[in-house]
Amino acid sequence: MQVIKSTSAIKKAIRIARKRKKKIGFVPTMGFLHEGHLSLLRKSKKENDLSVLSIFVNPKQFGKNEDFSTYPRDLKNDELFAKMGKVDIIFYPSVVEMYPKGYLTYVEVEEMDRVLCGPFRPGHFKGVTTVVMKLTNIISPDTIYLGQKDAQQAAIIEKMIKDLNVPTQVKICPTIREKNGLAMSSRNMYLTPHEKNQASIIYKSLRAAKNNILKGERNIASIVQMMRSMIASQGLDRIDYIDCVDARTLKPLTAVQGSVLIALAVWVGRARIIDNVRLQVK
Ligand code: AMP
Repeated sequence: MQVIKSTSAIKKAIRIARKRKKKIGFVPTMGFLHEGHLSLLRKSKKENDLSVLSIFVNPKQFGKNEDFSTYPRDLKNDELFAKMGKVDIIFYPSVVEMYPKGYLTYVEVEEMDRVLCGPFRPGHFKGVTTVVMKLTNIISPDTIYLGQKDAQQAAIIEKMIKDLNVPTQVKICPTIREKNGLAMSSRNMYLTPHEKNQASIIYKSLRAAKNNILKGERNIASIVQMMRSMIASQGLDRIDYIDCVDARTLKPLTAVQGSVLIALAVWVGRARIIDNVRLQVK
């Protein structure tokens, strides 16, 4: 496993792999890896000849008052996960490598970044799409592997890849969870044991919503109200949003039909937890 920091060096490694007709899988991350990332790495290795992991805490996707400087970082531990996931190359660029002085160019997917997390994190998705586009141009993977946990991010990246005719496939992989249902996330390290317990209500509320829909509930307001009460019952009163949207377009649903995404963002202590479930409704 190689750790490569410079764009020119990784481009060279990719050129050599391409000459040898290797299929390339790519997993973009911000590091502080866990089992959720590992599941993507395993899939990437299984389906490709060369598996590339990027670790880059992207300043452009953090708001002014967000946790860029305190975001957890641990390269040594990430290397252990990367080895477990049989990664061939870790791309680990610095901020100046990605955004040299005078950097001016951004990629933006309109509309889809104005719903769900969008209004609470202005500029966030523009930062995400810009960095993913840059990394994709550098690595030119056959397939990019993303997690369903970040459903809005995944839908936006899929749209960008399609709209910009990028010759790359996007695969969205299932959310990996703790035993208590909490979606694994690097930011869970901000939670105390008590807060982790409280946070377990989040997935329970999503599952309850899904079950209610499967049993015939079609009133979005009642579904959201039921989820709010469940979450509030654990003393969690800072709910950014709970929404039901079309899973692909992220447009608000007028009826509970088709590909439905129920998504939310809830603060638990210092951590803003996002989670979702997806279901198909006839
Ligand atoms: P991050 O390092 O948080 O930017 O995440 C990098 C990639 O891992 C994204 O595609 C995430 O959606 C994915 N990911 C993060 N947490 C999980 C999880 N619990 N299960 C599956 N994928 C995840």
